[in-house]
Amino acid sequence: MGNKRDYYDILGVSKDASAEEIKKKYRKLALKYHPDRNHDPEAEDKFKEISEAYAILSDSEKRAQYDRFGHAGIDGQYSAEDIFRGADFGGFGDIFDMFFGGGGRRGPRGPRQGADLQYELIVNFEEAVFGVQKDINIPRTENCASCNGSGAKAGTSPKRCPKCGGTGQVRTTRTTFGMQFVSTTPCSSCHGRGQIIESPCPTCRGSGRVRNTRKISVDVPAGTDSGMTLRLSGEGEAGEPGAPPGDLYVRLHVREHKQFKRVDFDIISELPISFPQAALGADVMVETLYGRVKMNIPAGTQTHSVFRLKGKGVQRLHGYGKGDQLVRVILKTPPKLTKEQKVLLEQFEALSEGKRKKKEEQPKTEELGAKGEKSKKGFFDKVKDALEG
Ligand SMILES: [Zn+2]
Ligand SMILES: [Zn+2]
Repeated sequence: MGNKRDYYDILGVSKDASAEEIKKKYRKLALKYHPDRNHDPEAEDKFKEISEAYAILSDSEKRAQYDRFGHAGIDGQYSAEDIFRGADFGGFGDIFDMFFGGGGRRGPRGPRQGADLQYELIVNFEEAVFGVQKDINIPRTENCASCNGSGAKAGTSPKRCPKCGGTGQVRTTRTTFGMQFVSTTPCSSCHGRGQIIESPCPTCRGSGRVRNTRKISVDVPAGTDSGMTLRLSGEGEAGEPGAPPGDLYVRLHVREHKQFKRVDFDIISELPISFPQAALGADVMVETLYGRVKMNIPAGTQTHSVFRLKGKGVQRLHGYGKGDQLVRVILKTPPKLTKEQKVLLEQFEALSEGKRKKKEEQPKTEELGAKGEKSKKGFFDKVKDALEG
C-alpha cells in the first residue's frame, strides 16, 4: 500500500491528462506488456499494474477519489478482479478480445477457474520441421460425468444459497474519510459458489470433479523449434462448477539430427570433399531435408567455405517461405595413400614448388597415361582420379 506507484507515473501521463490521452497511453502499454505477447517474466505484473492504473484513471469518479486521497482513497475498495470486471473500460473490450478471445478469465471471487497444465513434448527433428500430430496422455481433473460437474447426486440439483441469494458474495459497507465504500466478500455459507449441495454425487463426493487421464491430440505446426510452447485452450484442469477450465501448455523439445543442425529456419550441414574436388571444382550431391540435390563447388574452393542452398531450410512458422541450407565444405586429407597416389602427389608438390623431381620417377606417370585410352586428361585429372580411387 505504502510503496504503491503513482497511477499517473505508471501510465506516463501528467495529472491533468485528458481521458483520451490516458486511453491512448494505456492501449499502447497494454499491447506492449500483455503476457501473451511479452514473455518477459515481469510483463504480467507490469500488465496488471497498468490495467489497474487505467481502471481507476479512466473512471472520472474513481479518478477524483484518487486525486484527492491517493491510493488510500482506492485501496481495499477494489480488487484486481473487480477492476477488470466492474470498471468502465470504454475501449478496453477490443484489446481484451484480442488477447483472450473474448470474455474474462475469472469472475470476481466466484468459482475458481481450473489450473493451467504444462507438458514437455519431445519430437524428432523432422517432425518439428514438417509438423506432426501427436497424441499425449494428460492426467487432469475433469468435470464429473455422473453429475455433469454439479456435484449433486443424479436426480437432484444444487440449491441456491439462501444466505447470498446465489451470488456467492456478501456486500459490506464501511465509511472512510467520510465517504461510503462498499466491498464484497465471499459468502461463508457456500464458499462463494452461490449453491449448496444437499445430496452429494457419490462418484465425486460432491466436488463435481474427478481425476482422469485424457488422451489429447496435439498439432505441432511445421517449423516449430525447441523451447516453443503451444497453448491448448481449455485443456487444463477443470474449473469449479460454473468456471472455465485452465489451459494446457505444451513445451517442445526437438531431438538432434545426426547430419543437420538448425539455426532458426536455416539448416547447417557439413560436406567432406577431396582436395582435387576443391582445387578443380566439382558437382557434388548434398543431403537436404527434401532429398539429395546437386551442388556445384567452384574451382579453388577453400576448406570450410559455406555454400547456400536457397529454400532448402525449414518452413517458416505462419507460412512465409523457407529458410536456406548452409553447406560447409570440409577438405578431407586421405589418411592413407596408394603408391600411385603418393607418386602423383609428390609430383604435384614438386610442380607446385616450381621444382622438377628427378627424371627417374617420371616413367610411372607415363604408365598411368598409357592405361587410359589416349586420354587427354591433364595432370590434375590424373591426381583426382588417383585420389578418388
Ligand atoms: Zn459427480
Ligand atoms: Zn452463499
